[in-house]
Amino acid sequence: MEKRISILGSTGSIGTQALDVVRLHGLQIHALAANRNVDVLEKQTREFHPQRVCIYDAASYLELKQRLSDLPVEVLCGMDGLCEIAADTHADVLLNSVVGIVGLLPTLTAISAGLDIALANKETLVAGGSLVMSQAAAHHVKIYPVDSEHSAIFQCLQGNRREQLHKIILTASGGPFFGKTRAELRTVRAVDALRHPNWNMGNKVTIDSSTLMNKGLEFIEAKWLFDLTPEQIEVVIHRQSVVHSAVEYQDYSIIAQMGVPDMKIPIQYALLYPDRMPCPTKPLSLTDYGTLTFEKPDLETFTCLKTAISAITIGGTAPCVMNGANEVAVEAFLQGEIGFLEIGLLAQRAVHAIPQETIRSYEDVIRADEKARSYVREAIARGIL
Ligand code: MG
Repeated sequence: MEKRISILGSTGSIGTQALDVVRLHGLQIHALAANRNVDVLEKQTREFHPQRVCIYDAASYLELKQRLSDLPVEVLCGMDGLCEIAADTHADVLLNSVVGIVGLLPTLTAISAGLDIALANKETLVAGGSLVMSQAAAHHVKIYPVDSEHSAIFQCLQGNRREQLHKIILTASGGPFFGKTRAELRTVRAVDALRHPNWNMGNKVTIDSSTLMNKGLEFIEAKWLFDLTPEQIEVVIHRQSVVHSAVEYQDYSIIAQMGVPDMKIPIQYALLYPDRMPCPTKPLSLTDYGTLTFEKPDLETFTCLKTAISAITIGGTAPCVMNGANEVAVEAFLQGEIGFLEIGLLAQRAVHAIPQETIRSYEDVIRADEKARSYVREAIARGIL
């Protein structure tokens, strides 16, 4: 295949699975970027021969450059490097799979350059959704969802009329703590939260899945990707992670997309759209599962989802504030500085403490994000939990 792909976040969970797809279908890699994993990025560069690579962490730049000195590859560094790759239209599509709000500027840069995006960086849409979608429309840039739920919805919309959509059903596995009480969650440690029952993912998204913040972020992501109101999004707990999401049309027909819980399916769909090619995963056997279950989420125990829904209902910078607060709180939880329930508490308090403002520019997003981060850092430092 002739398709040329650039990947931001190539050494992460999504990035490495994307490269499995690239390898299988003989796609071309134009550029690769990683946070700080020099070993894996070097290996990927030797296998996939990109023209440009970028390491985000400035301290690792010289080492990477030296290790790749025998190859005809340009080595870039930092946010400037990510944005140079994002603006490089020698690629046909940019897979943005970095974690956190750091992905927003590269997304906006790719849009300005007119480069289509396979988007796995959900924080981009949570923090700057209005900006990203209006810019994408203005530059006629396509955004292909990589998140399994949003890929499912995108797939269910094919061949139907968008204006006849009634609502979407966003499925959630419920994470490792489904059915637990708040009292039980108080003593949860990072190692417990990092054990997800169905999906194999990076640390940030695994913690977000255990608090249901991941579903909150996806709720907001869906709102922007598919131009929905919060009332048009129903979250349903589906423990088996087989129905990846569904859409309901005006005639009350529900169309769902199903498959084994393997990110390679949505990654491949985003990279090869509209083609459906053999995928390096297992087929789904419905009889192996036998029973599929669906339940309402417990918003009183998992307050992060409730906070996300209220943040997008408030609008403006509120989801950005929630996202920034959550990023800092998750990091603090992973470091053992705060308890599990404090993640949700800090996100909720930040949304209510920091006044909502209208987003007009990237700078507005970054300012709100920074306010949220310092709010949470101060709250943790002062121990006012
Ligand atoms: Mg997901």
